[in-house]
Order: sequence, then structure tokens, then C-alpha cells
Amino acid sequence: EEWKDRGAAVSLRKEVDAEGRTVIKSVKKGVRDFSFGRILGEGSYSTVYLATDRQTLREYAVKVLEKKHIIKEKKIKYVNIEKNTLNRLTEHPGIVRLYYTFQDETSLYYVLDLCNGGELLGVLKKTGTFDVECTRFYGAQILDAIEYMHSRGVIHRDLKPENVLLDDQMHVKITDFGTAKLLKDPRDPRSQEEIPGQNGMQEEKKPASFVGTAEYVSPELLTEKAAGKPSDLWAFGCIIYQLLVGRPPFKGATEYLTFQKIVNLEYEFPPGFPPAARDLVERCLVLDPARRLTVEHIKNHEFFDGQPFGKELWRMKAPRLR
Ligand code: ATP
Repeated sequence: EEWKDRGAAVSLRKEVDAEGRTVIKSVKKGVRDFSFGRILGEGSYSTVYLATDRQTLREYAVKVLEKKHIIKEKKIKYVNIEKNTLNRLTEHPGIVRLYYTFQDETSLYYVLDLCNGGELLGVLKKTGTFDVECTRFYGAQILDAIEYMHSRGVIHRDLKPENVLLDDQMHVKITDFGTAKLLKDPRDPRSQEEIPGQNGMQEEKKPASFVGTAEYVSPELLTEKAAGKPSDLWAFGCIIYQLLVGRPPFKGATEYLTFQKIVNLEYEFPPGFPPAARDLVERCLVLDPARRLTVEHIKNHEFFDGQPFGKELWRMKAPRLR
């Protein structure tokens, strides 16, 4: 419906014209320009394939969504939000980049950065927990990516270790922007107003009060039905805790019980939890979003002492997982 293809990039094709001369034509990239390989993963609405650009031999992850299924499940808006958001976020190494979009009769295609390292959650499950050095490195990369998306007027709203992918260098690439909120004016940090009709699944499938994943959802979303930049930093606090402990801070037997724990700030630190990390988590997991640490505060927190951010951070070699 509203889908507009992305991609100024073209591929060059040799053709023979009516007079039998060989001409080079430039055409927009499409399905035919990629050779599809194995399935990298499957989502509820999509299948992600490894694909190679036939011309450059560069590898990508191509997410394929079946139009019929998207329409039947009323996910058109969700699909457009993901595309519009990714189109705003093309200049940061910590965010999965969208290179092209195209479609054919049956499907929509997103050509994305390939993340060979899988999900941060998978890596964490293998090691059980991360040590302080790994937590600092991955925490810093996630934070740097959050800072960038917030500067471009994007609130993710569903940050969790499953949505943090890893590339072949084991560097972070944040994904899954289908439930993101786009702020009207990305340059105005006070602008919390969202673009009408851009609030994703909220109006379609899930109840109006809840977007995201129970364990990482911020208290203000549960009580005020409002999510802003601080909501992503609540999730960040949950992730730091989870990397060090191996499970998220708030986890009840049901979604409802998880929500109860969140709004009552009911969580504990196991013995031996590093003190600087404890202080950081306690200052992120603050019920009042206005009193929560901001990205700038977190970068200056003692837990990140000596940790570079920005360009230098993305040149660092990832620490061995422990
Ligand atoms: P759901 O829609 O059910 O929430 P999802 O958001 O994980 O699932 P997708 O984003 O389509 O759905 O991803 C499906 C799977 O494909 C993921 O679990 C992930 O492991 C894999 N995947 C997604 N993007 C990439 C990528 N850029 N590189 C490598 N693997 C990817």
C-alpha cells in the first residue's frame, strides 16, 4: 500500500538493443540482483535469508515479508515504521543498516547488514553471565547506539538482548525497530511528541497500554502509558543487570506478575554483584523517568571509567567472552 522502495543504488545490466548493439543499462536493484542462501532466522512475520549481491559479492541479511500475511495480520503500519525508522538511522555502526528495499508481487524485501554473530541473548546463554569487562564493552556499545538513535528522534521501546545482534567482529548492531516511536523534530530534545499514526503495534494488535516485552518495559509505560527517551534507559539498566547476573531483574511467573514487580521496583542484587555496576543499575532503575540517569550521566558514571565512546569504541577489539 504505502510502501515506497528505498535505494538510489542501481545495478548495471548489459542488454542488446533493437539494432543488435550491446548497451549498459542501469536499473534499480531488485530480487534478481541477489542470490539467496540459507535461512538465518524466522520471525512471526518474516524469514531472514543470507543473500549475496551478484555484482559486488557482498553478503547481506535479507528480510522477506509475505504481503498476504502482513495484510491479514494487519501489520502494514508496523512494516512501514520499521522501514521509516531504519531510513533515519543509517550513519551509526551500532544499528543494523537498511541498504535497499524492494518488492515483487508476493513479498517485501529489506536488505540489511549481515549479523553473523547472532543475538546477544544467545551469546549470553552460552556463557551464562558476562564478566565486568565484557559487560562494560557491550554496555558501552549499546549506550552509544541509543545516544545516536535518540539524537535522530527515535525511541526504540523494545530494547532487550534478543534485539542486540552481533556482527562478524562481535560488535553490537541493534535491530527490530517495528515498535519504535518517531519524534516529530529530531533536533529538538524536548520534543516528545510522536508523529500521528506512527506508533506501531499500539493501535493494531497489542493493548494500547503496552508496547515492548514485559521484562524490560518501563514503569511509566505501565502507569502513564507514555514512553520517552528515559524508557530506553530503563531497559538499558535491565540489560546491564542481565549481562552480569544471567537473567533480567524483573521476572514473574506471568506478564501481570512481572508488571507488578516493575511498578513496585521489586528486584534484588545477588551477592557479589560488582558495586559500581550496582550503583549504575540502581540509578537507571528509578521509577520516576525524570530522575533516571540520562545517556550523558551514564557515560560519566564510574562503571564506565576509562571507557571510550564514539569512533574509538567502534575501533576496539571485542573482549573475549567470559
Ligand atoms: P518477531 O517478529 O517474531 O518478533 P523477530 O523480530 O526476531 O521476530 P526478524 O527481525 O524477522 O524477526 O528476525 C528473525 C530472525 O532472523 C531473528 O531471530 C534473527 O536471529 C535473524 N536475523 C534478523 N536480522 C538479522 C540480520 N541482520 N543478520 C542476521 N540474522 C538476522
